[in-house]
Amino acid sequence: LSLCGTGDTIFALSSAPGRCGVAVIRASGPGSAGLLRSLTGTPGPPPPRVLALRRIRDPRSAETLDRGLVVWFPGPNSFTGEDCAELHVHGGPAVVSGVLQALGRLPGLRPAEPGEFTRRAFAHGKLDLTAAEGLRDLIAAETEAQRRQALRQMEGDLGRLYQRWSHALTQALAHLEAYIDFSEDDNVEEEVLARVAVTVRALLQEIRGHLRDGRRGELLRGGVRAVIAGPPNVGKSSLLNLLCRRPAAIVSPSAGTTRDVLEVALDIGGYPLLLSDTAGLRRAADPVEREGVRRARERLCQADLVLAVLDATSVSPTPAALGAALAALEPPPGTPCVLVLNKADLLGGATPAQGPPATLLSCKTGEGLEALLELLAQQLAQLCGDPLSGWPSLTQSRHSRHLGACAAALGRFGDLGDSGDLALAAEQLRLARRELGRITGHVGAEDVLDIIFRDFCVGK
Ligand code: GDP
Ligand code: ZN
Repeated sequence: LSLCGTGDTIFALSSAPGRCGVAVIRASGPGSAGLLRSLTGTPGPPPPRVLALRRIRDPRSAETLDRGLVVWFPGPNSFTGEDCAELHVHGGPAVVSGVLQALGRLPGLRPAEPGEFTRRAFAHGKLDLTAAEGLRDLIAAETEAQRRQALRQMEGDLGRLYQRWSHALTQALAHLEAYIDFSEDDNVEEEVLARVAVTVRALLQEIRGHLRDGRRGELLRGGVRAVIAGPPNVGKSSLLNLLCRRPAAIVSPSAGTTRDVLEVALDIGGYPLLLSDTAGLRRAADPVEREGVRRARERLCQADLVLAVLDATSVSPTPAALGAALAALEPPPGTPCVLVLNKADLLGGATPAQGPPATLLSCKTGEGLEALLELLAQQLAQLCGDPLSGWPSLTQSRHSRHLGACAAALGRFGDLGDSGDLALAAEQLRLARRELGRITGHVGAEDVLDIIFRDFCVGK
């Protein structure tokens, strides 16, 4: 198997490219000890897992390229499970390219593909697929809640949950198979069969509960898509600017300026919000504006959260009137809405009756911004959940797809139970277990590996 890396040794810059204080260059494979010898001109690698200060030279010319730290991680107790080496050099582009070129000239060494180190770790059983995905998400995490969820998955919480279910299925299957093979003593064995049915029913319930989580893990991982919607000129673009504290959207006093959809990524209380500003929703004569309105509607339909903006001076403050104004925007059914009553600075003394999920704001003075942020953070926490409490969330559509298939097989098992076709029932348990195994990568995951590791950075 080529991905076990029995032959070649891979290397890559693991820190971000560009000028930096310290750059980390990493290698994995049987040539790791040799490359340390060649580059440092020493007879052997330094003691395992100890940083050693060395002069790093070009093996051809013996010219010193840098003075840095080298580490030797003999397999199998390394990240990939293979012999690994790291060079911590000064993060200047010329130093890094000099060392990378020197490595590339050594026999048996080649640059690593994106995610190839982690892929080798997976191939050597160092982590399962959910942990590898967690690692990838950890590197991509931009908010605190995303980091918590990714770290938890990387540490194996999700994988362990699926492993536990898989073990329960293995046991149930063993009992069922024993019954099929040796069902002579009916009294004892009926009991065994009943126990298997109870186990499977309980498991099915757990899996269905896990699936029915409102896609919280996926929302947290990918960001909650929120759309600012409302009539023209109420201050939608001003709201986007206020939230991202920079003029990202065009704000102008003439109605119908925002024609395209503009998206910014925001961190609200540790949760990721992908906020888009849209054209004002109204019947437009101008074809370009009409296209903007069409895109706004399209965006609105895909939203996880709607920020409905109204002009506080032009709506009656009664709950009924606010409800009607909100309904006129036709938010997709079931999508949570936050109602922002903007231009509060123009209200004078009269404050409309408000309470969640409506809030008064002035984009002009910033008054009411804290309350809005608070309200948004609450909505986001509700949508994404607390990544540290309760069961770990499934974070990929891949997970829910296989779990759905697993639950379907367990459901068929339940239906078959009464008809007495035990061989068919056992087959359903095997199918269910295989779906779990495909999530963790314990069963035939070859086809998804390329997809999963493609999104990794080079050097990880
Ligand atoms: P949009 O069409 O809904 O995106 O509205 P804009 O953000 O482009 O704003 C329309 C007009 O309302 C601009 O002239 C803004 O300066 C003004 N505006 C926006 N927010 C406020 C506010 O809170 N108070 C006042 N007085 N004017 C505002
Ligand atoms: Zn606008």
